[in-house]
Amino acid sequence: MFDIVFRNATLIDGTGAPARRGDLAVADGRIAAAGGAIAGPAREVVDASGLALMPGIIDGHTHYDAQLTWDPWADPSPALGVTTVVIGNCGFTIAPCRPADRDITMRNLTQVEGMSLAALREGIRWEFESFPEYLALLERNGVVPNVVAFAGHSSIRTWVMGADASTRAATDDEIARMAGLVREAIAAGAVGLGSSTNEPHNGEGGVPMPSRLADEREFRALLAAMRDAGRGVFMLTKGSTTTVPFLEGLAADTGRAIIVAAMFHSNTAPTRVFEQVEQMKAAQARGRAIVPQVSCCALTMEFTLRSAYVFEDNATWKQAMRTPQAELPRLYADRDFREGFKRDLVEGVGRRLFNSEWHRIFLREARAPRHRGLEGRSLADLAAAEGKHPVDWMLDFALGEDLDTLFVAELLNSEPESVARLINEESAHVSLSDAGAHLTFLCDADFGLNLLGHWSRDRGALPIEKAAWKLTGHPAALFGLRDRGTLREGAAADLLLFDPATVGRGQRRRAWDLPAGASRLVAEGKGVHGVWVNGARVVDRNGPIADAARAGKVLRDFAGS
Ligand SMILES: [Zn+2]
Repeated sequence: MFDIVFRNATLIDGTGAPARRGDLAVADGRIAAAGGAIAGPAREVVDASGLALMPGIIDGHTHYDAQLTWDPWADPSPALGVTTVVIGNCGFTIAPCRPADRDITMRNLTQVEGMSLAALREGIRWEFESFPEYLALLERNGVVPNVVAFAGHSSIRTWVMGADASTRAATDDEIARMAGLVREAIAAGAVGLGSSTNEPHNGEGGVPMPSRLADEREFRALLAAMRDAGRGVFMLTKGSTTTVPFLEGLAADTGRAIIVAAMFHSNTAPTRVFEQVEQMKAAQARGRAIVPQVSCCALTMEFTLRSAYVFEDNATWKQAMRTPQAELPRLYADRDFREGFKRDLVEGVGRRLFNSEWHRIFLREARAPRHRGLEGRSLADLAAAEGKHPVDWMLDFALGEDLDTLFVAELLNSEPESVARLINEESAHVSLSDAGAHLTFLCDADFGLNLLGHWSRDRGALPIEKAAWKLTGHPAALFGLRDRGTLREGAAADLLLFDPATVGRGQRRRAWDLPAGASRLVAEGKGVHGVWVNGARVVDRNGPIADAARAGKVLRDFAGS
């Protein structure tokens, strides 16, 4: 007796093989048979005519570490087709953490991952100190999607070095203790180590996140600790001074696979990401598993002029980031401030994000009803219509609305041809949703639906089979998830049933449902008919099933490498 039989589905098996029509049976949380016509009684029959069935999406780059302690759903990911979330990316974890370091850990997350401090303070259940205790807490509470956890370099560094973690290189003794914690985490079930050397990754007060202070010896020792354990992937969000040849050296010495984030296309340096990907491919040809992590979403950033962080690399604008809210109107009206901002935009000193692309910043929501007709237009366009410099237009307009005007910038991954090229790279790990982070300004938790709908169906950038493989079989192999990511007999029944004609991104809405009433953007998917985790249905056509089982597992057993 099967638990479920899906009849007449288009089966997309997650290996990249051609889709085929057939049935799929589930028993005891696993796929019991896949393909052809399946006979035999079943407790439940799902008519999947006209629908596609594929393995559940594996989201390889989330920041649900904190949220999972109060929200076993990792909402909204399951409703968007995700059955496994990977946490601990960039090394910004909440374990290990001593009680004395909890406050700074939360304040750093507020800065570096744009999380609400009030929500973290009210929400996080601090019932752990060590990494193994953290995993045990998740397991005790239960989780709806499966959870795969990286150990976090910055947390480990803080545990060993205290406040010095953000100020200096480690001593030999400290490095040895960090390596011990990495070994402990891997033994407890970490998939690897997450880290960051990325310059914008700053904690409270602009202080670098701890991993940014690590030197070559430290990286070598921590990767060697994984090598000795016989497994463990190294995930790094790379800064400009960390070169691919350096990473290749680490991979060569330690045999570790390295996932390199965040490989966005940028108009300020349009060829750079491709050059780096080529370097990684050359390293792969020499036998090193160095994988670029790319995104299929334009990185949109919503902002108001109360905190216009998109300009924060501009020397003059830094003043605005330091100025108390009440004094901002006076600063924005100041002629010298405006001229300085314009001058620095032209000179481009320290520029990383914004390159005067005023045609890529849009008026998202005006406060005054009479301005609604302007919504959706670019600042280049709006400023030209009034014969003003875009800086003056933006500041004047926002001042006229008490700084409540909402703008949206599309600065990275905004050119479709470049994104199509990146996501088609054979080795590229399509991910980078950052789900669970930056909740005020973005929600790309629906990246998988975007790949299936927008990129595959609408743009024809890649076949549906390849898109599905990028979201399932490929990451499963990368992380060593032995029995997930493909529709084959014996694999875990993590499944996504969807309508290929309508699948895609839906609306974004603002919800005030975080702890302490903090708000977030929530994505709503299109075309999702059902999601099953380990054989249990957690989402139906109407969204999450309120009383669904916490069917996910904290995954601790990975293929070695
Ligand atoms: Zn991240």
